[in-house]
Amino acid sequence: MRSDKRILRSSINRINRDKNITEKEKKKRIKVVENILKEKNIEKRYSKLYDMICDYLDNEFINKNVCGFQNDLCSKRRYMIEKGIKKDSYINGCCHSYKHSNDCEHLKNGRCSIKNIACKTFTCPYLRLKGKNYSINKIYFARYFFNFRQKFYMQNTYFVDKDVVLKEILERM
Ligand code: SF4
Ligand code: SF4
Repeated sequence: MRSDKRILRSSINRINRDKNITEKEKKKRIKVVENILKEKNIEKRYSKLYDMICDYLDNEFINKNVCGFQNDLCSKRRYMIEKGIKKDSYINGCCHSYKHSNDCEHLKNGRCSIKNIACKTFTCPYLRLKGKNYSINKIYFARYFFNFRQKFYMQNTYFVDKDVVLKEILERM
């Protein structure tokens, strides 16, 4: 496990190297990392971090509508419909399985009812070709808190809630 000093130093270096943000934004981001590090109880720290990552990704995907949903159809599905590829013309994007012909059990009233980071970072090849790509490494406040095994687990374990993922993260410290 990385020491707090190392996490802070690596995070600060990376934030300061970002040419696309203002000095004010850099200071704000460094403060965010410092605040996470203030929590010394590891379980509480990672629980808070997990929630922060989910909030960050929800803001990207829901508020900024990364998937381009219109009337429950995402941009990839609309593209498939335009091209006449019927099997992919369902609503609710990735939360619908055309293989099983139903929505994910966690989809309630059009929203995901659990906190799963693999689902939240996922983008299909259609979006990735458009440069929309998400990962823990790209989230400035999260990158240095997790090792490779934790990141791999989080980004490849779909459809389960925070308690399951968090337990596995803590076991991989
Ligand atoms: S990731 Fe792609 S297929 Fe999934 S909801 Fe977004 S646009 Fe649709
Ligand atoms: S668990 Fe994943 S597939 Fe299921 S509703 Fe949530 S985001 Fe969609």
